[in-house]
Amino acid sequence: MRVDEVIVVGGGIAGCATAYYLARDGVAVTLVEQAGLSGLASSANAGSLHAQIPHDPFRNLGPEWAQNYAQAIPFYMASLDIWRTLEAELGTDLEIGFGGGLLVGATEAEMAEIAAKAQVERAAGLPMELLDSRSLREHAPYLSESLIGGALCPIEGKANPMLVAPAFARAAQAAGAQIASYSGPAALRREAGAYTVTTDTGRYTADRIVIAAGSASGALTQSLGVTLGVQAFPIQVSVTEPAAPLIKHLVYSAGEKLTMKQTRAGSILIGGGWSARVDAEGRPVVDVENLAQNLSLARAAVPAIGGLKLVRSWAAFVNGTDDWLPILGELPGAPGVFLNYVPWMGFTGGPAAARAIASMVQGKAPPMAAPFDAFRPRAG
Ligand SMILES: Cc1cc2nc3c(=O)[nH]c(=O)nc-3n(C[C@H](O)[C@H](O)[C@H](O)COP(=O)(O)OP(=O)(O)OC[C@H]3O[C@@H](n4cnc5c(N)ncnc54)[C@H](O)[C@@H]3O)c2cc1C
Repeated sequence: MRVDEVIVVGGGIAGCATAYYLARDGVAVTLVEQAGLSGLASSANAGSLHAQIPHDPFRNLGPEWAQNYAQAIPFYMASLDIWRTLEAELGTDLEIGFGGGLLVGATEAEMAEIAAKAQVERAAGLPMELLDSRSLREHAPYLSESLIGGALCPIEGKANPMLVAPAFARAAQAAGAQIASYSGPAALRREAGAYTVTTDTGRYTADRIVIAAGSASGALTQSLGVTLGVQAFPIQVSVTEPAAPLIKHLVYSAGEKLTMKQTRAGSILIGGGWSARVDAEGRPVVDVENLAQNLSLARAAVPAIGGLKLVRSWAAFVNGTDDWLPILGELPGAPGVFLNYVPWMGFTGGPAAARAIASMVQGKAPPMAAPFDAFRPRAG
């Protein structure tokens, strides 16, 4: 019988990448996933690689929130460093591109908010270049004339979310990890100095567990008596038919919620965190009114997309926290159980979070400069 040193629960980017880094370090690890690998947020997301403070909460939650959130900037920058060499490391194309992130404004008030946000970001070490109307047009001639300026974060980019967690899983298996997908939901129990993980297909015992179950992580920590402020929100994204190369950047609006980018295949992904609905069975479904608003903002920002057909819109639960900070580390009161939970931008933060958690599980400090103490799980 195989004796695992670590069991990872959850097969999204958080779990697959954690299994990879553990296996690469020579740790015997098994990942259990209730359904197919990367079936939820890790494939359904918009593929943006962010480092800047998200504009919507910056506007709505205020300067104190932004100062607190800015602690996460070095963490996302460390993750982007990993993304830069990830294709070489995993030996596969992930459609990663670093065209830069462009936050654009249409009014003087929006430009003032952009400048205020850039000041906080620069103080945290993030490169942000303010652009007037002329330089905005030089960088991004595809943008509407109604936009009067913006800020460029040159290190931001995009990747294809459907490729990434499966690539981590393949590399984890190649390094010796066991992956048990379609296992049904795992239940956790503490028993005589170790933990048991029971699924429909197996029973595992280990003294170290990593919970990487996205928005379902709260139920698992709760089963060990630890309540954390993890949340789930239904949001939606859309994609157009392919077009000739047009949008080079990851575009954000400082007005209403909007993000846009062009994929390698040429289609335009349109999102920004618009809410979806939840149906009677508890499944996320597209809210058509919000879709219409999202599309009309996209068309106002980049008029040339007006002639494109929309191919698909979809909805999924994104994992959140009140303060938007990651929760990474050992659970209070459950020694040996680690949580890998990056809210809202868990695709971007996935590689750094997984690398950090794999180190913590082995009793080592994470090999990147980020304030992990601020991210420690605290019972709520
Ligand atoms: C529409 C949308 C757009 C987004 N856009 C972006 C973006 O552009 N950029 C960005 O950085 N982030 C984005 N995000 C956020 C990002 O996708 C998530 O933060 C990230 O994917 C979370 O990864 P995860 O592995 O923690 O969770 P998930 O991908 O949700 O994976 C958790 C896994 O755990 C499994 N699981 C749960 N409970 C159990 C159990 N008891 N037993 C076994 N398995 C279990 C689930 O089946 C699932 O496969 C977006 C999210 C959404 C929904």
